[in-house]
Amino acid sequence: MDAPTWNLSIQYIKGVGPKRAALFAKLDLHTLHDLLYFAPFRYEDRTLLPTLNHLRVGETQTIAGRLMALSLSASSVKRMQMTHATLSDPTGTLHAVWFNQPYLTNVLKLGDDLMLTGKVTHNAYQHMDEMINPEFEKIDAAEDQMHMGRIVPIYHETQGLTHRMLRTCIFHALIQYAALFVEMLPKALLEKYKLLPLAEAMVQLHFPAAGSDVSLWNRGKSPAHGRLAFQELFLMQVGLAMRKHQSVTKISGIAFDVTGTLRDTVIQRAPFALTQAQRRVMADIEKDMKCETPMNRLIEGDVGCGKTYVALMAATLAMENGWQVALMAPTEILVEQHGLAVAMYIAAIGRSLVILTRQTGEKEKREALHRIASGEVDLVIGTHALIEQAVQFKALGLVIVDEQHKFGVLQRAKLVQKGKTPDLLMMTATPIPRTLALTLYGELDVSTIDEMPPGRGTVRTQIFSSKRRHEVYTRIAQEIDKGHQAYMVCPLIEESEKSDLQAAKTLAAELSRGFFTNRRVGLLHGAMKRLEKEAVMREFHDGKIDVLVATTVVEVGIDVPNATIMAIEHAERFGLAQLHQLRGRIGRSIHPSLCLLIYEHLPKEARQRLSAMTRLSDGFKIAEEDLRMRGPGEFFGTRQSGVPRLHVADLVRDADWVELAREEAFNWIRQDPSLSHPQSAALYRDLQQRFGESLAALLSG
Ligand code: ADP
Ligand code: MG
Repeated sequence: MDAPTWNLSIQYIKGVGPKRAALFAKLDLHTLHDLLYFAPFRYEDRTLLPTLNHLRVGETQTIAGRLMALSLSASSVKRMQMTHATLSDPTGTLHAVWFNQPYLTNVLKLGDDLMLTGKVTHNAYQHMDEMINPEFEKIDAAEDQMHMGRIVPIYHETQGLTHRMLRTCIFHALIQYAALFVEMLPKALLEKYKLLPLAEAMVQLHFPAAGSDVSLWNRGKSPAHGRLAFQELFLMQVGLAMRKHQSVTKISGIAFDVTGTLRDTVIQRAPFALTQAQRRVMADIEKDMKCETPMNRLIEGDVGCGKTYVALMAATLAMENGWQVALMAPTEILVEQHGLAVAMYIAAIGRSLVILTRQTGEKEKREALHRIASGEVDLVIGTHALIEQAVQFKALGLVIVDEQHKFGVLQRAKLVQKGKTPDLLMMTATPIPRTLALTLYGELDVSTIDEMPPGRGTVRTQIFSSKRRHEVYTRIAQEIDKGHQAYMVCPLIEESEKSDLQAAKTLAAELSRGFFTNRRVGLLHGAMKRLEKEAVMREFHDGKIDVLVATTVVEVGIDVPNATIMAIEHAERFGLAQLHQLRGRIGRSIHPSLCLLIYEHLPKEARQRLSAMTRLSDGFKIAEEDLRMRGPGEFFGTRQSGVPRLHVADLVRDADWVELAREEAFNWIRQDPSLSHPQSAALYRDLQQRFGESLAALLSG
């Protein structure tokens, strides 16, 4: 038999089997590696269980005792079934009650030795200490060493898979597969950061040694967590560093000749001067474009900081060299907005532009495809439609992806592959906390536009209960009377886009019949035809609509400086990032703007979000708050967005490690790019196991 590897399917692990494997899959545990890196979410010190005469009323405790009595009764009050149990040890007794779990009378047997964890209360009526709905585990003398008399791990459970079963499987796996725990971190790093050896960390993650400070483990700050978090981040950064190193040395792309004549024409035409930040980022881009290595750069910057304009200038550099440029954005509206924003400049420099979306008509599209393939078109702006097979470029030299996190890695790659080795410029208005950017975009270069164009009014944000909706409408009316315009963003309905649409329609109808009878109310939603949307946008832009009722399609793209007030219905349903994006639609002129967040219900987390919105305006600060509140997994909503799965490391808790691990990994690869030095041998073997083929690809280029 082959020696087991980390990739061993979980079903072959003792105590699992094919049937249970399905339950493990629910916890996202598929391999031996997943199982052994499944960090407990808390630990319980069972080294010294209190005897039953030493219970402390009001505290959560774990005790052990023998089941002496068991009965079922019905409570008259709420028609609940109650399971009663009495446990005893040589020093005393304890009563336990479970509500509505009658099956317990089948699960438990008189004479069983049990361990209960729960809050101790005193039942004055029965003169007895009591636990209500305690967690329980049966004690099996043969397995005592796993579950008793030590600090034990408590895992997240799923139906049919208790933490006791998980503990048992992991305990056995730790023993059976100990040979796999071969140290892969370079010795120098182990010493520098005083990291636990792998084998020890693995064991301690699950079964801390007697006398360990449980509070450290519970906070994920134990030496075992530290070591494994560092390792996880380091290995990932090594992968990123190798990818980056390879792209720097192996792939030769286009070295653009940057004279900048076209760009200068654009600058002359613009009614404003570049901000300091735009100029700095432009310099980064120019440096990349001149260089033969393909550009791989991300521009981060808050809504309205002027990214589109920077992208336009980058595009001129490519076009000046006779190359075509593709600009891909995630929504129709955004594509149209970009089209509107750059059309004038593209015409001024004598170049040509087409727009391509799924809405583009057949005939129009055929023509566009032809002109793109023949090289007659210099700039193509489009949605996902750009990555379709039929789109062929003559000479694609620069790919720009706006709101890049809305696209999957593969989608971006598909567009890039339409050129030979085009430069790639990505943009995001979702500012990403540094720790996350370093993990997600480790192989990218990141430039930040951290400055707004001058002359932007401040945006104040206030929270209103829906009961005070009329005050909100009154403020909107006042703003309209000043000659300004308003957005009313409709509730985000979770079930479907259709319901969003319905909500928008209803709200628009209500408002135009009711409070805003004498105002011009417009409606914008995702299901409208392109031309309809364009028409509404134009009317709003031209001041022919006072109140634009919209679904979240306004999130990105619309730029109407005269709009100075925004009300968001059911603001509690929106995430922080989305609220921030929406709010970015106002505050685009010299006038002060107002954002009114209307809520129906305000659970604690929503309250925290809305209050963060009133306190914070800087997108990076909001993003950090968002990451702290939601955790990295949820930050972008989906896996597909490329957030790597982290087992032990936590980007918030281990923020310091993220920086260090990156620095060390990049240093290591700089000194030993192909991992061929003896000090890298174990690291190389480990990566090979983890990445298999793709590692070979990285190394051979
Ligand atoms: P982003 O794409 O970052 O959200 P845009 O590029 O759409 O921002 O710019 C927002 C608005 O600011 C646009 O109306 C744009 O013309 C304008 N703008 C861009 N750069 C400047 C600048 N340096 N000074 C003044 N206005 C600017
Ligand atoms: Mg933009």
